[in-house]
Amino acid sequence: MGAGRVFLIGAGPGDPGLLTVRARELLAQADVILTDKLVPPGIYDGLTAEIIDVGKVGGGEQVPQEETNRLLLDQARAGKLVARVKGGDPFVFGRGGEEAQLLRAAGIPFEVVPGVTAGVAAAAYAGIPVTQRGIAPAVAFVTGHEDPAKVGVGGGPGLQIDWPALASFPGTLVFYMGVKALPRIAHKLIEQGRPADEPAAVVQRGTLGDQRTVVSTLERIADDAAKARIRPPSITVVGGVAALGRELAWLGEARPLGGLTVAVTRARAQASALAGRLRALGATVVEAPAVAIEPLPVDMPNVSTYDLLCVTSPNGATRLLEEVRDARELAGPVIAAIGPGTARALRQGGIEADIVPPRSVAESLVEVLAEVPVNRALIARAEEARDVLPDALEARGAHVDVLALYRTVRAPLDEAARAAVDQADYVTFTSASAVRNVLEAGATLDGPRLVSIGPATSAMLREHGHEPHVEADEHTPDGLVEALLADVAL
Ligand code: SAH
Repeated sequence: MGAGRVFLIGAGPGDPGLLTVRARELLAQADVILTDKLVPPGIYDGLTAEIIDVGKVGGGEQVPQEETNRLLLDQARAGKLVARVKGGDPFVFGRGGEEAQLLRAAGIPFEVVPGVTAGVAAAAYAGIPVTQRGIAPAVAFVTGHEDPAKVGVGGGPGLQIDWPALASFPGTLVFYMGVKALPRIAHKLIEQGRPADEPAAVVQRGTLGDQRTVVSTLERIADDAAKARIRPPSITVVGGVAALGRELAWLGEARPLGGLTVAVTRARAQASALAGRLRALGATVVEAPAVAIEPLPVDMPNVSTYDLLCVTSPNGATRLLEEVRDARELAGPVIAAIGPGTARALRQGGIEADIVPPRSVAESLVEVLAEVPVNRALIARAEEARDVLPDALEARGAHVDVLALYRTVRAPLDEAARAAVDQADYVTFTSASAVRNVLEAGATLDGPRLVSIGPATSAMLREHGHEPHVEADEHTPDGLVEALLADVAL
């Protein structure tokens, strides 16, 4: 085994889009990931590394730093590539410096990947520039814990704060802290001469889908934050720039799904594009993969003996491209894809579909194919797909072979995922099987608004007594997102 290395990685403040390219590269290389609380959701999806959570469990006890240190050294000495991932920046209230010292002392090579720190990013997402010409020529980052006996921000010992020095600091103060400390911080600053009417703002869960901001004055900020039930994690900004949070707030406009929780029930392999799109629109995404894709062994026929090849799902396209023996077999037949996602999946293999029907359902494909002469048709699809297409082609006198390339199987949803689905504001279904599996997992679906990708999925919901609140006009994941946005705008 080669020599171990440690990557001290900052994962940014919460929005997965703020993970750096370097962080992503190194995460993909890592054998082991030691992760913390406050790491953005979903950044480990699709990675093969073993993931060890050394963050606080449910806001309670953190894995002791000694234990984390031991893990770091043991894994690196075993020759592993270890990614030590922290929220924000690893060297800003993250004990990254101490871990680097530990590694240096042990002779273990390391690399540091800076991250976007919460004090800058949460403020920016609230429309607050931490410095501004004419308002704030300097910025100070301050830990909100000051009792040396107590554990400070990031689990380290608290620091003594020099209140007179902070109060006279000529610029913006950004506190990283538990919200409990806010009354005392505000009081101390005013006591030491900071104006009571100086602007102050608190940003909770900055850059995440449910970010909340309170803009007020130093004198009132603690009360206003308490009234708004502000919770950790949050930062507090004190200084003239905080008032810009009123003028420059932009997140709501850019993020129409801000504050909403949306459950995605697709198979994990396919969920990430949809989840990413929803997150980019501001949603907090709960992934509850109720289905999984199971490839089926196939006896691959020679595709060139058909004059029509129909591919009825992106998975079907991917599997087909895996199984086809010789790409030249695909040169002959007319190729029909049921929708744009399937056409895209074919394009990955260098195949341009000849036919994509206007609506992504079997019925629409049947209509379009009415114009196309067909003798022998091959349909590449899921085992459990509907028979609308083969029946219609057979009714026209064509010979039809159905090639079942995979099946979607029920993926067990654990209790937490099931509860998260029922507590979501919206639950999205991209297939009838996802509906069936979510219900079999025990979800009631009584609370959330239900979003269906199309008629077959809606029919399955109705069969179980749930009228979908939203059905996509265009039966694709993009169409589903459009429909959801339209519903939110109502
Ligand atoms: N290394 C991190 C800070 C870790 S200390 C960084 O550079 O950002 C943890 C504190 O960071 C929290 O108590 C909170 O004050 C702040 N914090 C982390 N994520 C945050 C977020 N998304 N929004 C607001 N504050 C956050």
